[in-house]
Amino acid sequence: MNIFFISAEVFPFSKVGGLGDVCGALPPALARLGHAVKLITPAYATLDRQRYAVEELPVRLEITLSTQNYLFGVSRWVNPASSGHTVYFLDNAELFGTRNVYTDDYGEPYPDNAARFLAFQKAALALILNQNWQPDIIHCHDNHAALIPVYLKTIYANNHRFAQTRSVLTLHNIAYQGLTAMEDRPLFDLPDYLFAPMQPLEWYGKINPLKAGIVFADAVTTVSPTHAREIRKDDQLSAGLRGVLACRQSPPIGILNGVDYTYWDPAQDIFIAKQYSVENLPYKQTNKQVLLEQQGLKPDLLARPLFGMVSRLVEQKGIDLLLQCLLYLLQQEVGVIILGSGAKEYEDSLQQLARDFSGQMRFNLGYNEPLAHQIIAGADFYLMPSRFEPCGMTQMYAMRYGTVPIVHQTGGLADTIIDWNGKEGTGFAFTPFTPAAFQDALKRAIDLYTTADFETIRRNGMQADFSWKHSAFEYEKLYRKLTDKR
Ligand code: ADP
Repeated sequence: MNIFFISAEVFPFSKVGGLGDVCGALPPALARLGHAVKLITPAYATLDRQRYAVEELPVRLEITLSTQNYLFGVSRWVNPASSGHTVYFLDNAELFGTRNVYTDDYGEPYPDNAARFLAFQKAALALILNQNWQPDIIHCHDNHAALIPVYLKTIYANNHRFAQTRSVLTLHNIAYQGLTAMEDRPLFDLPDYLFAPMQPLEWYGKINPLKAGIVFADAVTTVSPTHAREIRKDDQLSAGLRGVLACRQSPPIGILNGVDYTYWDPAQDIFIAKQYSVENLPYKQTNKQVLLEQQGLKPDLLARPLFGMVSRLVEQKGIDLLLQCLLYLLQQEVGVIILGSGAKEYEDSLQQLARDFSGQMRFNLGYNEPLAHQIIAGADFYLMPSRFEPCGMTQMYAMRYGTVPIVHQTGGLADTIIDWNGKEGTGFAFTPFTPAAFQDALKRAIDLYTTADFETIRRNGMQADFSWKHSAFEYEKLYRKLTDKR
């Protein structure tokens, strides 16, 4: 099949969160099943063209947003390790080439994000038409690509090139909907009726691209089976879109994300001090020792539980709950290392606690890929008390590194972590979302640390298999179902 991915993030070229990981790993997994997968994404300032041998193509695309014209160049990266997998970059210096993905250097969202990603989607469709490609599937990811199904079913409805094309919209995070003011309507080039009250693009007086994508996509998926059920039932977990999902003929399908075990593998990880695997687990301790030193924490913590966390610091990730329980945790004389950035109030509170407990807790502000690996390898436990979690990647990475996750039992966390029952399990899963329940899980974790079972739970996690192969089969099955109906 000819499969197109449209995504704002793709690892290793750009990444803000799990979306980048998925769009980096799923296309080569599909290519290995024999499909041709072309991913289209913007070229941001961070794109390292030399390192990845990204070549410029002799293609120019022109698109219009209201009365303004934008020119896009096109560059290409052909995956040397996976035949059939190509990434196309859309080049426009003003909108993307001089900027980050969503936010400026101070973490503020760009005020013209709606226009930027509209231009991106129009240019992506222009590229497909320009190259005379015939997509079987256009797989759109999150709100930044959610208008593609809308264009396919409206202004391109009679374009023979898309007659056989079916669209899939994956909701990596339904809480980000790409809302913009109704005044931006002329930018969209879509029929007026779509913006009328209660119509697909209208949302409490604003424009909601994700909602419209859900209405028009041939299939909607989300990234874990439990989260697929949650968003069908719960207004809060669906960020208000439960009713819109319910109106679809086919309900959202949950396909669990996988892990790229060539990149997230303690036996091959180039960022960590000492490589290790389930066969030589004691080497993990070397990583803990080096991490404690590097982070300026007390050396005697080597014999005490070390808790790590790598996360966007936003409400979704349960940072408020963590802050309510951190004092308890630190009173147990354990170590805590956190890496992340996000809401200023969370950053400040974590910074303050790290100052008050210097030598025992360290907070690293920012985004740091090597340090993320070092924390995941060096810690004993991984903290992930997310309020909601469509899938979550880091708990799966942690397991492979023998770092035991402590998670809120929600969404993909419920699907990936088996709560330790005294005999078996891969982590600690708590519910309800309360300080008491979280604290109880922390206590259970600390109690286990000094017992022989700690090694068992570690090994269980390291041997759990969340490889992409299984997820790629599930997506292939869905694509076939959609294209068989043509
Ligand atoms: P989300 O997509 O909601 O942010 P996931 O757990 O699905 O959460 O994916 C997060 C990804 O981003 C993981 O690969 C994680 O290691 C990475 N990540 C998050 N914050 C940072 C950070 N500050 N530095 C490095 N990597 C980070």
